[in-house]
Amino acid sequence: MSLLPPMDVGARPVRLRGELERAACDALLVTRLPNVRYLTGFTGSAGNVLVTADAVVLLTDGRYDTQAHEQVEAAGVGADIVIASHAEQPARLSELVASIGRLGLEAHGVSWAQQRAWATAFDGVELVPTQDLVEGLRLVKEPGEVARIGAACSIADDALATTLPMLADGPTEREFALALEVAMRERGASGTSFDTIVASGPNGALPHARPSDRNIEPGELVVIDFGCLVDGYCSDMTRTVSVGAPGAEARRLWDVVRASQQAGRDAVGAGVACADVDRASRDVIDAAGWRDEFSHGTGHGVGLEIHESPRVAKAAGGTLEAGVVVTVEPGVYLPGVGGVRLEDTVVVTDEGCDALTSFPKHLSIESMAA
Ligand code: ZN
Ligand code: ZN
Repeated sequence: MSLLPPMDVGARPVRLRGELERAACDALLVTRLPNVRYLTGFTGSAGNVLVTADAVVLLTDGRYDTQAHEQVEAAGVGADIVIASHAEQPARLSELVASIGRLGLEAHGVSWAQQRAWATAFDGVELVPTQDLVEGLRLVKEPGEVARIGAACSIADDALATTLPMLADGPTEREFALALEVAMRERGASGTSFDTIVASGPNGALPHARPSDRNIEPGELVVIDFGCLVDGYCSDMTRTVSVGAPGAEARRLWDVVRASQQAGRDAVGAGVACADVDRASRDVIDAAGWRDEFSHGTGHGVGLEIHESPRVAKAAGGTLEAGVVVTVEPGVYLPGVGGVRLEDTVVVTDEGCDALTSFPKHLSIESMAA
């Protein structure tokens, strides 16, 4: 893997303060782990970040003492680090927030029980529900973030190229999924970005099928949806292929989804409404008579999380901006028969978009090798 460019993590808490003002909060207690990582570089499995007008405090437990100091330093974030046991943390947090008037909580990331516990512990502090303040900052990716998503996408491309010929030997879905995952790890991925989907024949009609012990047979459609992680950033790609010649109906299905995916990709650009990208993909499938068989949105944002803002769907609000990373992944699912989905991860530009996943799209693996 080539060297990854640096990211300006230290600038992120500064940008968050602008959002705090708009949300009329004096501080935000960040509890969602992808947001903790985004703001501080800390990757531990437990930690909260308090961002006030003049301080950033990372609170975590003793397991992460060394790691927290190293990662915050490496990220160039001027954060104070407080190490406290789980039992001590409420009291330490209470001290930290004692002088805050209005304290924002991430309403989408705090349990009811947690909110009630803090409401009792933080005497005299007004708790304010906030929505997507850090997620809003994460929407437009920095060049260093795009480079990481791109690196993950390149690994996935390479892994599929290496693994695909194995389909000719009739592996089970699980065997093929495992081989793909191993190939990604061998190329430097730290893990998968979500549970790999390998769905052959009738299983392909389930958009989120789990790989089974079913053998992949010649002439069947195989939906392969997978991705990996590089420095915490996700890739996401789907290809649908066939070993040997598929039937005419499968061919038509694939061609329609291919055209739909291209229409969606062609629609992507800065200033374009997310719903219009969905419309572009959906119109092609509607016209082919499979309106009800395209049962999900056209795409989603990708970053530190596999599914993040924005949504690219029929009823989605919002407009794409340059630097936003989204997928375009229409699909058609015919119960009992099979399914086709094709997906790329792209980064929005002023002129349109650049694809980060670039594995070729061919229905039969024989024509791919040619
Ligand atoms: Zn996917
Ligand atoms: Zn996806």
